[in-house]
Amino acid sequence: MSVPDWLPLRDELREEQPYGAPQIDVPVQLNTNENPYGPSEAAAADIAESVRAAALGLNRYPEREALALRERLAAYLGHGLDASRVWAANGSNEIMQQLLQAFGGPGRTALSFAPTYSMYPEYARNTHTRWVAGQRRDDFGIDVDAAIALIEAEQPDVVLLTSPNNPTGTALDPAHTRAVVESAPGMVVVDEAYAEFRRAGTPTALELLEEFPRLVVTRTMSKAFALAGGRLGYLAAHPAVVDAVRIVRLPYHLSSVTQATALGALRHTDELLAQVDALRAERDRTAQRLRELGFRVADSDANFVLFGTFEDRHAMWQALVDRGVLIRETGPLGWLRVSIGTPDEMDRFFSALQEVTRG
Ligand SMILES: *Cc1c(COP(=O)(O)O)cnc(C)c1O
Repeated sequence: MSVPDWLPLRDELREEQPYGAPQIDVPVQLNTNENPYGPSEAAAADIAESVRAAALGLNRYPEREALALRERLAAYLGHGLDASRVWAANGSNEIMQQLLQAFGGPGRTALSFAPTYSMYPEYARNTHTRWVAGQRRDDFGIDVDAAIALIEAEQPDVVLLTSPNNPTGTALDPAHTRAVVESAPGMVVVDEAYAEFRRAGTPTALELLEEFPRLVVTRTMSKAFALAGGRLGYLAAHPAVVDAVRIVRLPYHLSSVTQATALGALRHTDELLAQVDALRAERDRTAQRLRELGFRVADSDANFVLFGTFEDRHAMWQALVDRGVLIRETGPLGWLRVSIGTPDEMDRFFSALQEVTRG
């Protein structure tokens, strides 16, 4: 894509490309960490009924504060949270943008630790926030002393931690999260998009909220909840943080249809989350099988596995696409990421992989 000269686009956007994994129509799609199990007919019918009821009121603007939905999300999270401490938006992507609109901006700095979610620098760019990326260790954990030194040097207004991290799958050591939160002068956002997939015994940063009013934990219904198409992300934080975000949100940002869809899905929480255990088991099995084939595999607490390394990872990615299997070319050079699908999809992934590596 090239921008025509006559178009007065902001200079720093001229060479940019729209974000997005290639959407290629192949039989096995393991590239965007979606839940491979969609809602049942019964759940879909119930969601549709919620949407039908909402449709009768579509001449009116939506409930601007989405209070019923926030209450329901707070109940799902537990930890003594209520609607005043939860905020919802169109995906956690919008949540993150709102956070940078409120707490980043011109003259301000956001900091994270790479390799991590490739959207963060784009939110920073779009909100005119200076972007600083520290480096994770070779095992993709955070070197806590280096992290604290970097925070002291840069004095970031926002620190973004991702746990479990994308694209590596790494959950943060809770002592490291605490150390970062204690040393950060501004906001700390822990992106827990994959929290439901974490291995037993891995705590959530929700436990630290009471203690640290400048901490924000973000979640999404896109992954474990199997609602990527519904676009619903949310955060939990101090009520003052929620009020700050309400200042920058667009009026009526969350449509009546979206609210009805999410509320409908939340009525089926047990069903929608029922496959999480199976996906975690499949993830561990996938990591194990990849190791047995001689690959390097990053430990994962998410619904994907980062593996490698390949001299020419693009060639490997393409060879898999040619065999009907779409994975993601992302992360550190030489690595590829595969989302966890159904056992049948994983078998097809492994068949294609072995066919290619056998040559
Ligand atoms: C998938 C993902 C999200 C979720 O984005 P939504 O906008 O809620 O779909 C957020 N953070 C990370 C790190 C992710 O990988």
